[in-house]
Amino acid sequence: MTSDAASLPPFNAPYAPDDRAIAERLLAAARLSPAQDRNIDRTATRLIGAIRAHDDRLGGVEDMLREFALSTKEGLALMVLAEALLRVPDARTADHFIEDKLGHGDFVHHETKSSAFLVNASAWALGMSARVIQPGETPEGTIGRLAKRIGVPAVRAATRQAMRLMGSHFVLGETIEAALDRAHPESAAAPRYSFDMLGEGARTAADAERYFNSYASAIEAIGRVAHRRRLPDRPGISVKLSALHPRYEAVSRGRVMTELVPQLTKLARRAKVHDLNFTVDAEEADRLELSLEIIAAVFGDASLAGWDGFGLAIQAYQKRATEVIDYVDHLARTLDRRMMVRLVKGAYWDTEIKRAQERGLDGYPVFTRKAMTDLNYVACAQKLLALRPRIFPQFATHNALTVATVLELAGGQGAYEFQRLHGMGEALYEQLGEDYPKLAYRTYAPVGSHRDLLAYLVRRLLENGANSSFVALAADDRLPVSTLLKRPATIIGTPEEARHPNIPLPRDLYRPERANSRGIEFGDRAALTGLLAAIGASKPAITSIGQTSPEATSSLVAAAHAGFKDWSATSAEARAAMLERAADLLEQRAAHFIALLQREGGKTLDDALSEVREASDFCRYYAARGRKLFGPGETMPGPTGESNVLRLRGRGVFIAISPWNFPIAIFLGQVTAALMAGNTVVAKPAEQTPLIAAEAIRLLHEAGIPRSALNLAQGDGRIGAVLTAHRDIAGVVFTGSTEVARAINRTLAAKDGPIVPLIAETGGINAMIVDATALPEQVADDVVASAFRSAGQRCSALRLLCIQDDVADRTIEMIAGAARELKIGDPSDPSVHIGPVIDAEARQRLEAHIARMKREARVHFAGEAPEGNYVAPHIFELANADQLTEEVFGPVLHVVRYPAEGLDRLLQAIERSGYGLTLGIHSRIDDTIEHVIDRLQVGNIYVNRNMIGAVVGVQPFGGFGLSGTGPKAGGPHYLTRFATEQTITINTAAAGGNAALLSGEE
Ligand SMILES: Cc1cc2nc3c(=O)[nH]c(=O)nc-3n(C[C@H](O)[C@H](O)[C@H](O)COP(=O)(O)OP(=O)(O)OC[C@H]3O[C@@H](n4cnc5c(N)ncnc54)[C@H](O)[C@@H]3O)c2cc1C
Repeated sequence: MTSDAASLPPFNAPYAPDDRAIAERLLAAARLSPAQDRNIDRTATRLIGAIRAHDDRLGGVEDMLREFALSTKEGLALMVLAEALLRVPDARTADHFIEDKLGHGDFVHHETKSSAFLVNASAWALGMSARVIQPGETPEGTIGRLAKRIGVPAVRAATRQAMRLMGSHFVLGETIEAALDRAHPESAAAPRYSFDMLGEGARTAADAERYFNSYASAIEAIGRVAHRRRLPDRPGISVKLSALHPRYEAVSRGRVMTELVPQLTKLARRAKVHDLNFTVDAEEADRLELSLEIIAAVFGDASLAGWDGFGLAIQAYQKRATEVIDYVDHLARTLDRRMMVRLVKGAYWDTEIKRAQERGLDGYPVFTRKAMTDLNYVACAQKLLALRPRIFPQFATHNALTVATVLELAGGQGAYEFQRLHGMGEALYEQLGEDYPKLAYRTYAPVGSHRDLLAYLVRRLLENGANSSFVALAADDRLPVSTLLKRPATIIGTPEEARHPNIPLPRDLYRPERANSRGIEFGDRAALTGLLAAIGASKPAITSIGQTSPEATSSLVAAAHAGFKDWSATSAEARAAMLERAADLLEQRAAHFIALLQREGGKTLDDALSEVREASDFCRYYAARGRKLFGPGETMPGPTGESNVLRLRGRGVFIAISPWNFPIAIFLGQVTAALMAGNTVVAKPAEQTPLIAAEAIRLLHEAGIPRSALNLAQGDGRIGAVLTAHRDIAGVVFTGSTEVARAINRTLAAKDGPIVPLIAETGGINAMIVDATALPEQVADDVVASAFRSAGQRCSALRLLCIQDDVADRTIEMIAGAARELKIGDPSDPSVHIGPVIDAEARQRLEAHIARMKREARVHFAGEAPEGNYVAPHIFELANADQLTEEVFGPVLHVVRYPAEGLDRLLQAIERSGYGLTLGIHSRIDDTIEHVIDRLQVGNIYVNRNMIGAVVGVQPFGGFGLSGTGPKAGGPHYLTRFATEQTITINTAAAGGNAALLSGEE
């Protein structure tokens, strides 16, 4: 890298600023002259007219999408079918899948509405299938009938063909050679293309290498046949950084800079040799800062000097788009080079909103109203046009109003181009070409096999089918053109309306009941650096804490017994307010608790932050539920002259015994629930994590919980035994192993006096079922997170992965490859994915199991661990599910294969384990999903996602059978189990008769 680029400060615009300030700026700048507005109206109207007039010849798929819009169940079924059908290798699953998706829609009546070829082809295939599938039939019955009438293979072949047709509409060729054949870049009049090699992001080093090779050979192939004109009138290639590195993420920055920058530089050098346009696509917001750092490093490479083809895409839905333009302009100026900049609106909007909500951010990195995106696009366009010729703007859009506005702003000068996606916007750009023959536009042309196009296809279907998208609106003839011409500034109105009224800020997701816990985005460098500095400054003292003596333990129970009267008389409102204060304190001291969790519990940054968030969610959730449940009580119906009220109150002294794996979240979850229900508590944390517990108790005292209501007993199982055997206790809440839960149960049963309830949450042999319709990349992500995150030390962690044998080899290979990329080591290093296991004893137990598995099972992956209490991920294949008889609490994944027809046998085997805590299902077949859900008694079932990280109040957590007694932690029924019920009946007529009845009006 040149020293110039190296000396550039990193991109540091605020990650998710308030929308209002941005809207003020954009609205003020949006005003154009009446003459300009008239021109825009005229051009846009003409383009919309062309879109609406265009016939079957070009836009079959758009017609089809109009027919099966995403707002219909047929549209959704079609999208799911398209996303998965082509990757299903076995006929049985394919048939089941087709039947599942077609059986519930009304495809038949779509058949005759449009004459478009593709609509016909698809509706024919779909309609034909749909007609023979009667709603309510069993899969076996339907398949049987189908086979009799037209033959299953015929339906399967027709449906696959329809999906292929749809895919080929959006993809220029299955190989770069085929795509070049269609594009004719060698011809003198060749249109401009940017080729894109399709695929999901790399999960493994092998994936990254494959994508690199495919980019490299595509560059050579394009370069070989490119015509002789000069840039920008030359073809190009678009690359995705996520395809070039398996851990392209902010926390792996060091590694990414060392490994990805040289790869990208090599590709860019080859593109320079052929003088191509080389564009880095824009991806998710949390990768933006990292991507700019990579781009600056590569662009600044001295070997690329003198070439004007390097470029990047900038997303206008991101609030930081203006600053990104400033940054790249600064970069180009500093290096005295030209750059090509593609302005898009952005393709990941739904994902961005979800991620920000999940992470509890203060704001969204993207706009929440589409008109703000449009407004920002125009502002960015204006800025880019003003930076010509240093910046060569490329406006990628299919929105006729956006195109017309850019045309007007560009003022007739050249030195820019438009861009469209292959298979979209043909009519618009054809018209534009007719009206402005000198205007250049480039087609973004995806290249890849049918298997690789799926994710891309879904993005395009979403884009075409979503009712906010211009393409979908323009296709709707009923909508007047004037509606489509409405300017984004007019739609927004005032800066106060810049935010979408129905999309709450991430922190307000659960309002009015409670605040969502505060998280941070690791892709926001300023936030991450701030957190790391605060963690570093916290330096918690790790001192040894002595065990409470049995005598002292008994007196703690006596004290809690004495404190019960006062605490249970404290109003629910007051108790709730203390818990809410505790949540606030936890958030204020998050860095300190994270430091403690890392030192004492071996937690990685991500795990520790999530845990602190979960703890504050528990405090707020139980406070909110408790307010409702423990108020004045519920009035019961009854005869006049009498009042009947049912109310809940605390039971007495609760013993809370918690494990080391969530030393603050489970610990505080138990304690705060018991307290909120009006009980006093003696808490006993795991002996491995006494410091965290001590600090948590201090924090609760500081929040106002009196000492007489809450005490801490430190020690191992012996202290737990003293507590649970005590005469004066009224309840026990326990999380840990099934054996200890049984021992507690026996102790409680052996005591005289009142029968004491036990709330136990224990472990599980958690399974995940993956069929052939699942997306392997998504499976790999979810398996790796579920099995190896927290070093596998979560009750919910995946232990037994069950994969349909038709896809097992490829899926296991990808999972093993992804596991290989995980970094194991000191958890205070933010780039570490797996920290140590809790202690030497746990490590030895795991090592013994691994040694046994190496003898008894097939080894798919055996990672290497550094010195210390580290255990690397391992993947073993078992002959059958029954071979796994106990919970292995560490990063060891067991895999079994099952045949498509053997799903029920597999479910029986899972059931035989007797556990029922968590279960994962990866399938696109609703019928299979429902079947598994109905069949297995499991507490928490996760479909098409990972199976860990239950969120308080969202995924109440707890299992069946050997996995626990219920009720679910973080759920609406939890607090009541800590309480007892009391009915108060008052004869209101006893003194002076029933005055209320007598004075009632007629
Ligand atoms: C040549 C080309 C290259 C592309 N490269 C990339 C790329 O590198 N990276 C990338 O991310 N995308 C890329 N895209 C996709 C592009 O982002 C979409 O095609 C684009 O969003 C559609 O914009 P439009 O102007 O055609 O449609 P319009 O319908 O006018 O706009 C759709 C946009 O509005 C956004 N939107 C919808 N609802 C809301 C809301 N409530 N609040 C805020 N925004 C909302 C959508 O997310 C989308 O960005 C590319 C597109 C083209 C044509």
